[in-house]
Amino acid sequence: MLKTLTFSAFLCLAALGASAQYTNSPNGVPPLEKMAPYTGGASLPMPSYIAKAFSKGGHTISGKPAKNYWENHGRYDIAINVNPPHSTVRGVEHITYFNNSPDKMDSLNWKLIVNNHRTGGGRGGATPNPDAGISVDNITINGVQGTWDNAAISGTVYMMPLKKPLMPHDSIKMDITWHYLMTRSGTGGREAIIDSTTFYIAYFYPRVSVYDDYKGWDTQPFGAGEFYNDFNDYKLSVTVPKNFVVVATGELQNPNEVMSPAAAQRYKTSLTSDSTIHVSTLQDMLAHTVTAQNATNTWRFAATNISDMAVALSDHYDWDSGSVITDDKTGRRVNMAAFFNDNADDFHHDVQFGRYSLRWFSNNWPGVQYPFPKSTAVQGTADMEFPMMMNDSHQNDLGFAEMVQDHEQAHTYMPFYMGINESFYAFMDEGWATTLEYLIGIPEKGKKAADDEFKSFRINRWVHGNHATETPIITPLPQGGNGSNSYGKAALSYLALKDMLGDDLFKKALHNYMDNWHSKHPVPWDYFYSMNTGAGKNLNWFFNNWFFIPGYCDLSLDNAKEVKGGYDLSIKNIGGFAIPFDVVATYDDGTTETFHQTPIVWEKDQKAITVHIKTGKALKSATLDNGIYMDANEKDNTWPVVAATVVK
Ligand SMILES: [Zn+2]
Repeated sequence: MLKTLTFSAFLCLAALGASAQYTNSPNGVPPLEKMAPYTGGASLPMPSYIAKAFSKGGHTISGKPAKNYWENHGRYDIAINVNPPHSTVRGVEHITYFNNSPDKMDSLNWKLIVNNHRTGGGRGGATPNPDAGISVDNITINGVQGTWDNAAISGTVYMMPLKKPLMPHDSIKMDITWHYLMTRSGTGGREAIIDSTTFYIAYFYPRVSVYDDYKGWDTQPFGAGEFYNDFNDYKLSVTVPKNFVVVATGELQNPNEVMSPAAAQRYKTSLTSDSTIHVSTLQDMLAHTVTAQNATNTWRFAATNISDMAVALSDHYDWDSGSVITDDKTGRRVNMAAFFNDNADDFHHDVQFGRYSLRWFSNNWPGVQYPFPKSTAVQGTADMEFPMMMNDSHQNDLGFAEMVQDHEQAHTYMPFYMGINESFYAFMDEGWATTLEYLIGIPEKGKKAADDEFKSFRINRWVHGNHATETPIITPLPQGGNGSNSYGKAALSYLALKDMLGDDLFKKALHNYMDNWHSKHPVPWDYFYSMNTGAGKNLNWFFNNWFFIPGYCDLSLDNAKEVKGGYDLSIKNIGGFAIPFDVVATYDDGTTETFHQTPIVWEKDQKAITVHIKTGKALKSATLDNGIYMDANEKDNTWPVVAATVVK
């Protein structure tokens, strides 16, 4: 999600250490743990629940998933029926759930996120509506009537007892019918009625929550965080009246069945077209020439090894589509589509925006092929990512519209390719989306404009805020706060490591992490150790600095002393973060010279260092320029200190 505010929750370090070990706590939120301070060496501090997963042999200090690593998996076959403007969604769902864990399960935990509309609150920004929320009409488990108590469910999670336990390495088959009432969008509605005949349907089906090797069932209620889902296989069919177009996660299986021959041909042409093809325009939709003219049409989609499905449907949206070669070696093409109100000027550019970003992300940063066959930008209200789908708001500023799309597209990698627990460790996801949004912004708008936007949008408010309430980035949600910890600070840590290692080694290390953990559930320590192994360096001092201390960005230049061959500069790190910076030297002859310092200068001492600049010239003044690692107090960044003018 593209979060525009950067407040973080207030919690001081002293509040850490409430509990010894994580078990499923009553409110589903793991307690914080005090971790021993880092004292050097091969391993970083860990809470006991993470240490347990390491000791069981699922995760290793090499960064690779070990032979005892497991994760669970489901096959979902879902059929929904929607008849706008009626806002009831009816679903029939068949699930085969595989328990790959070594544990016997006496119950199954469900995520029912649309229940968020009942009570409102949370990050969904839903308006409270007692009529909202999902009702299960019937459930059978392995053919036997199951027990589901709608009345007992108030929130977004439900632990359903099993009559017969699900044994390790066994599976269970469930058939469920359900319905719920969609509501109008709240302030941040990530799934909602967009207009009376345009719906964005997401989080819509009962889903078995993640059962993992460090927390057991994910019982965290839907709130501050976003995704944490298993990699499942999906078949989804959406039945709507004629003249409604449906776009969704997954490949459309039956264009000839649901579209008019002319529209189906335009759609197929778009799959190999660089230019934007109008599969349907407002005029086509009003003339009823786009869909097959049956009473209802059932649009079928399929996707494998994916963490969720989302759907949008409308009887008047434009549907643009094109494609881009993301891999020159194989000629592989990815389909980019947009689904929007004809009067939204920005969305008319979305196919070309997406063609650029899909190719750029695949070949530059992260430099990993876009892992899906398609992507669709839908005009909604949320600026929120879903696998292969984006729910983006209309923007008047085209540059900002492109940046929003870039950010949501970047989420494809984290969390949809790397199955991280974003509702717990959001920095593993939002931090990367923010990093990639900045990096793609450089070729799109130039370095200076990208830097300025990143500073004003992601860093400025945080760096000039109150650092007494800073929490370490490693602090899980909700205690850690889904603000600067998840977005700006985390992005700076990734960019600082890129600066320190150089692009080639950083990419090698990042690819090691991504190769190790894609389609799996990595924890932060898997990232740290994969980067160490990938880079061939022990970077624990750097990770300890950025993730385990409540730092910020603030340097001071205290002195410059002439020594043999140049000058020695005394620099203090007041904020504590191991940031890169430039020393800008101005000489007596009026010329200037810039000396870049990577974070490696902080390896031995993260409080005070001496930086040597090599020059034969006489130094008149020197200034520290931190660039995007904005300095909280720039007044002490220049030597000699310019005496303040005394005003009488
Ligand atoms: Zn985001």
